[in-house]
Amino acid sequence: MDHFLYRDGILHAEDVPLTEIAAQVGTPFYVYSTATLTRHYRVFQEALDGLDHLICYAMKANSNMAVLRLFADLGAGMDVVSGGEFRRAIAAGVPGERIVFSGVGKTPGEMRLALEHGIRQFNVESEPELQALSQVAVATGTTAPIAIRVNPDVDARTHAKIATGKSENKFGIPIARAREVYAMAAALPGIDVIGIDVHIGSQLTELEPYQNAFRLVAELTEALRADGHDIRRLDLGGGLGIPYERANSAPPLPFDYGRVVKETVGHLGCEIEIEPGRLIAGNAGLMVASTIYVKEGEGRSFLILDGAMNDLIRPAMYEAHHDIVPVVEPVPGTEQQPIDIVGPVCESGDTFAKQRLMPPVAAGDLVAFRSAGAYGAVMASEYNSRPLVPEVLVHGDQFAVVRARPTYEEMIERDSIPAWMD
Ligand SMILES: *Cc1c(COP(=O)(O)O)cnc(C)c1O
Repeated sequence: MDHFLYRDGILHAEDVPLTEIAAQVGTPFYVYSTATLTRHYRVFQEALDGLDHLICYAMKANSNMAVLRLFADLGAGMDVVSGGEFRRAIAAGVPGERIVFSGVGKTPGEMRLALEHGIRQFNVESEPELQALSQVAVATGTTAPIAIRVNPDVDARTHAKIATGKSENKFGIPIARAREVYAMAAALPGIDVIGIDVHIGSQLTELEPYQNAFRLVAELTEALRADGHDIRRLDLGGGLGIPYERANSAPPLPFDYGRVVKETVGHLGCEIEIEPGRLIAGNAGLMVASTIYVKEGEGRSFLILDGAMNDLIRPAMYEAHHDIVPVVEPVPGTEQQPIDIVGPVCESGDTFAKQRLMPPVAAGDLVAFRSAGAYGAVMASEYNSRPLVPEVLVHGDQFAVVRARPTYEEMIERDSIPAWMD
């Protein structure tokens, strides 16, 4: 459920008509609903009720400062994957004790920064990283709390670009070698072993891969405890999928995911962390664009929008589906026609949908891309020198621009001409 509904024939974000935002901000833009973001966070809280747990929002899904502040105020932890994300989390008011640092390529500088802020935990992904982290910790007079990310070699049955839990993926340490690597970690002076981490991929639409992975983590917990390690925290990653195609998809609900967590690892007495990103932010956001032209091609028509692949890359990058709806509600019974929905960027890949059934749309009409709150604005670029798409946050009947569209001057002046050209 989200808070984007038609009211009086106009699609609203909570109590704000999208036409009003478009008139003030211009198109394209992203818009997020505070109520939906909050609700999704609470749904996970309820799903893990009864377990000692922390929800570490995977902020790479949507790292706008206003969104982070909202979650910081709700008491959320954060899962960060870069020094930039770490700085954003701190700036949003999340204390170091609630920040988990993931990723295969943490640099010594990033490690130092995190240690200075009293980070909750590093999720370590390789032996060289373990050694580097120990050295940085010793040099700064601290010890680094760690979990090792294990790769359970389970098939997440998702798009290849977002599967992370198979042995051919770059992530984690093969679970079969985990005991050996934990022994090495325990012997390092700057390392404090506290837990196990696993994250098998994103946009999972079944629970079984989770069940398989979490069972393996439970077995490993017992084995490592028998080896003398004090395993007291399990980070189970994120990845729960969302229904991008409302008409015919129904991925598992957080409640059922929570049941799997309880059934597989609940008996171990560990503190549980999860790192949801997409499920929290995805359906809490839309991208709104205007129609520039409707072009009649050879045997097919094209709806040409002012939003493009640089603003929302998921269809080009992951063959992703987004439901696309007119902002002005079509009258019931309006006939739909197949049309290709494209942006103005000079690439055939700048196609959002092919032969999509749409009611008649004319130049100037607004359309909204649903499920665009995660991996949308964060992946936007200025390709084709299109200024970075702005973001808006709605709260009840209020809205605020939470990232302004840069002016053309700002965009151009970011570059500089070397002195020898003057
Ligand atoms: C991307 C990522 C997540 C979040 O995945 P979602 O599919 O957005 O829930 C969580 N943990 C790690 C380590 C990630 O890389």
